[in-house]
Amino acid sequence: MAANTISLSISSNVVASKNLSSFQSRAFIAPPTISFPAKSKPGELSLSSTTLSKSRVRAGASQLMNEPLNDQRSFSSPTVVEVDLGDRSYPIYIGAGLLDHSELLQRHVHGKRVLVVTNDRVAPLYLDKTIDALTRGNPNVTVESVILPDGEKYKDMDTLMKVFDKAIESRLDRRCTFVALGGGVIGDMCGYAAASYLRGVNFIQIPTTVMAQVDSSVGGKTGINHRLGKNLIGAFYQPQCVLVDTDTLNTLPDREMASGLAEVIKYGLIRDAEFFEWQEKNIEALLARDPAALAFAIKRSCENKADVVSQDEKESGLRATLNLGHTFGHAIETGFGYGEWLHGEAVAAGTVMAVDMSYRLGWIDESIVKRVNKILERAKLPTTPPESMTVSMFKSIMAVDKKVADGLLRLILLKGPLGNCVFTGDYDREALDATLRAFSKS
Ligand code: NAD
Repeated sequence: MAANTISLSISSNVVASKNLSSFQSRAFIAPPTISFPAKSKPGELSLSSTTLSKSRVRAGASQLMNEPLNDQRSFSSPTVVEVDLGDRSYPIYIGAGLLDHSELLQRHVHGKRVLVVTNDRVAPLYLDKTIDALTRGNPNVTVESVILPDGEKYKDMDTLMKVFDKAIESRLDRRCTFVALGGGVIGDMCGYAAASYLRGVNFIQIPTTVMAQVDSSVGGKTGINHRLGKNLIGAFYQPQCVLVDTDTLNTLPDREMASGLAEVIKYGLIRDAEFFEWQEKNIEALLARDPAALAFAIKRSCENKADVVSQDEKESGLRATLNLGHTFGHAIETGFGYGEWLHGEAVAAGTVMAVDMSYRLGWIDESIVKRVNKILERAKLPTTPPESMTVSMFKSIMAVDKKVADGLLRLILLKGPLGNCVFTGDYDREALDATLRAFSKS
C-alpha cells in the first residue's frame, strides 16, 4: 500500500454485539504498511500492528430505537455525548425541549456578555427563546444579537464582518460568549468569528437543522467559503458545549430534513454498518420526524463524529473519512452555485459518485452500490449531479480541494465490507475519469 494511503476499518465488523444498546465505538487505525482487507475474512480484520483506540465517547442516558423513548423525558436526563479532547473536552446535550431549561446553557456561559449569531429565518423562530434561556434567573447577563442574511451564499467574508461589527460596536471583551443559533452555515460562521474575535472567545453551538445537529456543530471545524471553493478559509475551534434541542426540527422544511440525512447515511457507510442497516429499516420514520427515530439517529451520529474527532481533531487522517462524497459534492456546490443545491443534496450525489468509483476499482461489491442508491432515493436525495456539471468543472474545482496534498487528490472511498473506507491518493486515475464521465458531460 502506498505511503499516502491510510487504511481505516471501523467498529461495525469488529464489535460482535447485535444489540444497539451495547454500541461501543472502536476504531482501528492501520498504519500505512498494513494491507486491508487482504487476509481478512468477511467481518474480521487482519492487522499485524494496530492502534486500538478505546471509545472516548461516553453517552449519558441511553436512548435507543429498540427501546421506547420517552418524549416527555425530563430535563434532568438529556442524552449526553462527550467529545473527549483533553482540556478542550465538551458535552453534546441531546433532547426535546432543552431550550426551555436555562441551566444547561448558562453553565457554559463565561462572563456577563453574550452575542447570539443567527439569521433572518431562524431569529423569528428561536431567538427570543434562546435569549430567555440565557438570561432567565441570571440578571447579570446581557445578550446582544446579530441577525445575518440566510443562506450558503452569505457564508462569506462580507457577512462575517457584520459579526465583528456588532461585537466591536457593543464593546464585547475577551470574557464574552458567542452563541451560534441556526444551521451549519451559522455554526461555521459564528465559530470562525469566535475563533478570531480578540484572538478567541468562548463559543456555544445551538444547532437547529439535522445537518448541524448530526455533524457540523460537533468537532470544531469553522469557516467561510471563498468564491473559488467551499470552506477554504477557517479554523479549528471547539465550542464549550453543543445543545441539541430536537424540538427545533419541527419547523425545518422537508428538503432540509432530507439534506441532513445524507450525513447520517455517511456515518453508516464509512464506519458503522449496523447503523446503516438500522437506517435501511427506519429511513421513512426519520423523514416523518418520528421523535424516537430522530433521537436515536442524532445520538448515534454524534457518537460516531465525537469518536472520530477525539482521535483526530485536526484531520491528519481518520477525520478526513467524514468527507465521503464531499469532494465531488463540494465541486457540485461550487460549480452549480452556492445555495442552488443544499449541502446534503450535493453530498448525496457525491456519495454515489465515490461509491461508483470504489466499485470501478474493485474495492466493493455491487450490492453496496445498489444499497447506497436505494437508501438515498428513499431519503428523497439526488443520486446524480446537476446536468450542467461537466467533467472539466469537476476536475478544476476538485483540484483546489483541501484534501489535495502535493498536487495529489486524495479521496475517501469505500473498500471492503460495508462500513469500511480508505482515505487515499493511491488509486487508478482511469477509475476517477470513468466515474466523472459516467456522471457528467465532457
Ligand atoms: P443552513 O445552515 O443553510 O440551514 C438550512 C436552512 O434551514 C436555512 O435556510 C436555515 O435558515 C434554515 N433553518 C435552520 N434551522 C431551522 C429550523 N429549525 N426551522 C426552520 N428553518 C431552519 O444549512 P445546513 O444544512 O444546516 O448546513 C450546511 C452548512 O454546514 C454548509 O455550509 C456546510 O459546509 C456546513 N457543514 C459544516 C460541517 C463542519 O464540520 N463544520 C459539517 C457539515 C456541514
